[in-house]
Amino acid sequence: MLANEILLTTPTYPYPTLPANDSLTDATGQRFTKGDNVFTMVSHTHCFANHILAQNVRTPVVVMEYPRWEDFKTEVDKGYPVIGISTYPVHLARVLEMCEYIRKRSPATKILLGSHGGMAFRSVYDKETQRKYVDRVVHGEGVRFLRRFLGETDVDRPIRQALMPKAGGAPPFMSKYPVGNIAFLVSGLGCIGGCDFCSTTALFDQHRTELLSPAELVEHMRLYHDHFPSVSQVFVIEEDHFRYPKYLEGVRELWMEQPKMMEQLDWFAFGSIDFIGRYAEKYGWDALAETGIGTIFIGVESKFAGEHGYKKRKNANAQEVFEKLHSMGIRTVGAWMCGFDFHDHGNVLEDLNYLVSLYPTYQQLTRGAPLPGTALWTRMNEENRVSDVPREDVHFWSSALKNVNFEPHETLN
Ligand code: SF4
Repeated sequence: MLANEILLTTPTYPYPTLPANDSLTDATGQRFTKGDNVFTMVSHTHCFANHILAQNVRTPVVVMEYPRWEDFKTEVDKGYPVIGISTYPVHLARVLEMCEYIRKRSPATKILLGSHGGMAFRSVYDKETQRKYVDRVVHGEGVRFLRRFLGETDVDRPIRQALMPKAGGAPPFMSKYPVGNIAFLVSGLGCIGGCDFCSTTALFDQHRTELLSPAELVEHMRLYHDHFPSVSQVFVIEEDHFRYPKYLEGVRELWMEQPKMMEQLDWFAFGSIDFIGRYAEKYGWDALAETGIGTIFIGVESKFAGEHGYKKRKNANAQEVFEKLHSMGIRTVGAWMCGFDFHDHGNVLEDLNYLVSLYPTYQQLTRGAPLPGTALWTRMNEENRVSDVPREDVHFWSSALKNVNFEPHETLN
């Protein structure tokens, strides 16, 4: 057995695809530019969670992304003391096979399971079944968990995210194999919003954990800029940057000190209508551009979301927010969901047209899906409204929800 090395891996390849044979690692193609004809991009991304974990523990780590089964077996047979698997719920069936193989060939190995797939696993299996496959399910932020698990003492030391593999995307007529032009960082994990359908707020117990301070974020962006001239945008994971205006102000101040970087690079932020509106009211619309933001993912969810308890959609005018952002050259991803209980045949097209009227640069159209572990999933189970679908069908377009006013196929169309 290896004495002092751990293995972090994703599920093996090939993995189940999404409806329309889309790949889960092609977020731009399966979501943001879906249905855009020749302009639908082909993109790839990486399992950054494992890279961040690997950079932040003292034990040497081997990272595998979507290994072939044979390569996975070869690694397992070396006898790692710890193997961590980071997964989406859609890959759970394959993950269980991986765990069975590890148990058989390397019974002393401790198996850790994390990310949204870990939350789904914990929600759908009883304790005994969980123990059969996995030693620890990691709920919440993983770096500090892993440091603690490995017996490190200074678990709260800063978290590095230096120069991870780059993601990339392009329309296929330009390149089917786009070079890495998108860098990736995580400024914070988790959201205090508490929307019932949201996996992230559930995974981090409605709490935000900061991973990079404003100074660290800008410094990490500068590293990408200096080392990889092809990088044009940094994708910065955070569920809603605009809930933390002081954080953004810190970024703005430091960004303005980097005029060269400003000319070549921008970053992808996350926001919601009300909190973007509130930020602009306090600091002015120009402040958004001065922060270096080039694109914002905005969870519009529905025209009617505010009147149905989704607090991020109560005050600001979505039309004005989108117009202002576009007028400053900031691109938008407008996200909308079909299949809320308040949706019916009389209002669903009105709702979709509302999203269209915002002219988002990109869009994300998904179905209301009760992802295991969310508040929605718990409530729908209590109401006996979760269909028993295969693990491969647990994703944003899942058929699991029994809608109040629609047959399942209607929300997919
Ligand atoms: S605001 Fe967005 S990230 Fe936060 S809980 Fe709601 S859906 Fe999730």
